[in-house]
Amino acid sequence: MTDSLTLDIRDLAPAQVAQLLETIRSMRTVAGPAERGPEDESWRDAPSTGWTLDLVLVLRENLRRRGNVVQLEAFNQAIRNGGEVSREEIFRIGGYDPKRQLKNWTKPLRTVTSELIERGSLPEYAEFPMEADYIEGSGYRQAHLFRVTPEIVKLVKEAMCDDCWKLVDTGTAGRKIAPHARLKPVGDIRHFSGSMVADEQDYRCAECGKEWMHETGNSGMGWVESSH
Ligand SMILES: [Zn+2]
Repeated sequence: MTDSLTLDIRDLAPAQVAQLLETIRSMRTVAGPAERGPEDESWRDAPSTGWTLDLVLVLRENLRRRGNVVQLEAFNQAIRNGGEVSREEIFRIGGYDPKRQLKNWTKPLRTVTSELIERGSLPEYAEFPMEADYIEGSGYRQAHLFRVTPEIVKLVKEAMCDDCWKLVDTGTAGRKIAPHARLKPVGDIRHFSGSMVADEQDYRCAECGKEWMHETGNSGMGWVESSH
């Protein structure tokens, strides 16, 4: 299906053109917004099943500690996308072999979630943070996308602007990522030299209020969240 349609309207009266446009508009309203359109903000109405911003942070830290960095980055990317990350994006993030299967791929997230439930931090009925979505059919089916539960998308999006979320979990690669336009320096830069070379600068986001410390230099940690 093409994205556009060219019509020759030279023979039509202005009223007929208006009528035509009105018909198209009404068809759009019936069809509803595109499922993966950038305007889809259905997460705004998501009910809570127990997740908090602190628990999302615990989840992210656990994934990082366990070395599940592809799952972590896919989770973060899904939130940037408004909730979904495609199979293609995951293969790109992970540098995966095209033949690879994503069977049990969300297991690390399930494990962390189960631990949070066992600890009593999350209720038993809490939504899983990220689930695979399969192409319809029977037999072996590939997951074509992964979806972060809307309540987590809502928590993160309401707490942090998109530009700040892009800095999250960038690790030492973040040393070279410049502050975005809304980040304002707080206080003076701190220099550390000797065997460990690092410069530290605090920032506060004028958009969402998030506070950061940016460590550059050979030993810097990159973008470190000071608040959320
Ligand atoms: Zn921000």
